[in-house]
Amino acid sequence: SAALHDINQTDGVRVRFGAGLRREIGAEVDRLGARRALVLSTPQQCDLALEVSKLLGGRATGVYTKAAMHTPVAVTEDALEHLKLAGADCLIAIGGGSTIGLGKALAYRTDLAQIAVPTTYAGSEATPILGQTEKGEKTTLSSSRVLPEVILYDPELVATLPVGMTVTSGLNALAHAAEALYAENRTPETTRLALDGIHALIDGLPRVMDAPGNLDARAVTQQGAWACGTVLGRVGMALHHKLCHTLGGSFDLPHAETHAIILPHAIAYNARAARRELGPLTAALGGETPGMALYDFARSLGAPLALRDLGIQKTDLDRAAALATQKPYPNPQPVTREDVRALLQAAWAGNAPA
Ligand code: NAD
Repeated sequence: SAALHDINQTDGVRVRFGAGLRREIGAEVDRLGARRALVLSTPQQCDLALEVSKLLGGRATGVYTKAAMHTPVAVTEDALEHLKLAGADCLIAIGGGSTIGLGKALAYRTDLAQIAVPTTYAGSEATPILGQTEKGEKTTLSSSRVLPEVILYDPELVATLPVGMTVTSGLNALAHAAEALYAENRTPETTRLALDGIHALIDGLPRVMDAPGNLDARAVTQQGAWACGTVLGRVGMALHHKLCHTLGGSFDLPHAETHAIILPHAIAYNARAARRELGPLTAALGGETPGMALYDFARSLGAPLALRDLGIQKTDLDRAAALATQKPYPNPQPVTREDVRALLQAAWAGNAPA
């Protein structure tokens, strides 16, 4: 929409959407005035990194394929050596949040320009936030330096995302927008952005599930992921994100799946205090309460519903509740350990939200 476009311009980030856009990567490097690009990926997406490297022709100076979840500092330092040896003057991150996180970590240290080519819906490419882990501890910083200069959303690249990850990653994106609706520091502009993201995902995800290769539907979900990622970078997140950070950071649960399972429960929890703010989400989903509507939506998409299926033990829930409530993020509904423990119990068992 025009509103999205305006907001987008103020960041000075060049954001493009289009099938086959990755083939224009060389022109984008030229446009940045760069000549020696280092391509980043995970080991699983090595073939794609090589494809992009080929598309770059003489502009590719190397491929680094060891990106890993939660941006370990040891990996970043290893990549930094490669970057220096290769004499790279720009970075191309092609992949999900893990690869984009590595690009951001390198840009933070070198101030090199980045082109992000996302292949999931996590939205990290649109935020100035960088999370890093070292010795089992996760720290987060926010800096405009980590924001990519260019984002290329090519629906052909998400079309290969396995259906399971499509759903969980899509719900991960939806979670950013849902929490933006009741963020303490929200503005009419961030609410509009969140609603754009919500509508795009609620429209696009079921169509993508019907036909995973439908590029028009994939493009809609990518526009949604961009809006959700952008709003994530603009407002504070609350209980839902705190719970997911705790479960990912301290119990090593997978990022997107955890978001998908917790979302209906965290939103039901906060609906007690923010039912009005969540009204547009409930209306878009077509349910009675936002928590139940999200639960039904997730179930209709075949999303995982129970934390216990991710490997966390029932006996871990006390510690998870304690950790998640130690330093709570600002939240519309008061956060108590007992209530959060009950929330986790329901999410662990896969029950409908209370
Ligand atoms: P991911 O990047 O870890 O990807 C998961 C796996 O799927 C990887 O093996 C990846 O190579 C593979 N994959 C990705 N796209 C694929 C595709 N199209 N086809 C086939 N395989 C594909 O997962 P994610 O959920 O995108 O990112 C999670 C990470 O991003 C976490 O570390 C999270 O903390 C971070 N994150 C950060 C921010 C931020 O603003 N800083 C925002 C969201 C997520």
